[in-house]
Amino acid sequence: MDLNIINSIGPALTGIKALTDLVSTIKDSKIRVELNSKIADLQGSLLNARQQLLTMQEQYEAVLKENRELKQLSLPREKPTLKFGCYKFEGEEGLFCPACYDSKGKKFRAARMNSRFYQCTVCKAQLA
Ligand SMILES: [Zn+2]
Repeated sequence: MDLNIINSIGPALTGIKALTDLVSTIKDSKIRVELNSKIADLQGSLLNARQQLLTMQEQYEAVLKENRELKQLSLPREKPTLKFGCYKFEGEEGLFCPACYDSKGKKFRAARMNSRFYQCTVCKAQLA
């Protein structure tokens, strides 16, 4: 997202402040009150717009992150073989957690716990 939109609201608010200072020098109190009211409306709209932009930016970043994760999941996978309840990849040392690989596409090592079990170093699943 082009953040220049959000960044341009700052100077606009500064401009409004300058305008308020200028209005305070006007002798006619009726005009002064009227202008100040209009300025307050304008300021409110700008603050509102900035808040909405910030919310949209957060949502946008969340969607980007989700998109990256989905792309990662949709990449062609290596076909592992099963060994002691763990995945073994061709030409790669060690054993890996099948749950983490199947759900997140991540290769997390399975550590040997004892003669019967392996355990995923990340999700702590016991593998045998
Ligand atoms: Zn795991």
